[in-house]
Amino acid sequence: MQYDLFAPVPKYKLISLSSGSSGNCYYLGTSQYGILIDAGIGMRTIKKYLREYGVAMETIVAVLVTHDHADHIKSIGGFGGKLNIPVYATEIVHAGIERSRFVEEKFTGVKRVVEKEKTFEIKEFQITAFEVPHDTIENVGYQIKVGDKTIVLVTDVGCITDTISKYARSANHLIIEANYDEEMLSCGRYPAYLKQRITSGMGHLSNRLTGELLTSIYHDKLDEIWLCHLSQDNNHPDLAYKTVECALNLQGIKVGKDVTLKTLSRGKPSGLREF
Ligand SMILES: [Zn+2]
Ligand SMILES: [Zn+2]
Repeated sequence: MQYDLFAPVPKYKLISLSSGSSGNCYYLGTSQYGILIDAGIGMRTIKKYLREYGVAMETIVAVLVTHDHADHIKSIGGFGGKLNIPVYATEIVHAGIERSRFVEEKFTGVKRVVEKEKTFEIKEFQITAFEVPHDTIENVGYQIKVGDKTIVLVTDVGCITDTISKYARSANHLIIEANYDEEMLSCGRYPAYLKQRITSGMGHLSNRLTGELLTSIYHDKLDEIWLCHLSQDNNHPDLAYKTVECALNLQGIKVGKDVTLKTLSRGKPSGLREF
């Protein structure tokens, strides 16, 4: 085997530990420390998955939260106490976490308040939260700059706004929701009120709309797109991938050549990227 001695050694690691309505959790870190975004899977599972990638829970220096739905905050309580890892969220989302009956253990640790569109720093990471419409009291996406890369995560997206487009356009690595296939949802077994909630503009984003957004924001510095929060009932990874690939292709953007496209798995780690 030949090794490229001149290839730069990757310094950063981005991992989706779990994505979808059964729990969301992402990791971004250096060889010394890292942050999590959302903690919607069990604490022991987070520890186990991190360990599989050689990351110790003790090296986590912060948890960022998008919003207060159970699949994003279930394990938040576990970051207080002995671990004493600060939790970052907007004031409104903190209040939602406090009221939530889906948090397994009450969070009594260090709270840090995030203000939308006000950049703050955690060690090497430069972080900006921004508004994302969704059927909860408040939801934010995160833009994280580290090294020479910009990572943007937008999940649980009711509809595309100018703000979302603006931040998505800044990404070298974009994690964006592709929740459902429109036909599968409309013909599926969900009751009418739930279908209405999902498509209301405050629910979730369809594969088609995700494709539309991506064609409108694509630029040649966008290296990789991860499609996240795929519905188990109303979507299929191949369908989400094909829908988005086709939309990009129609605009002359070749998946695999101009940009890398991946769908994230539900309930297990996927999509490791090192840079
Ligand atoms: Zn969710
Ligand atoms: Zn949600």
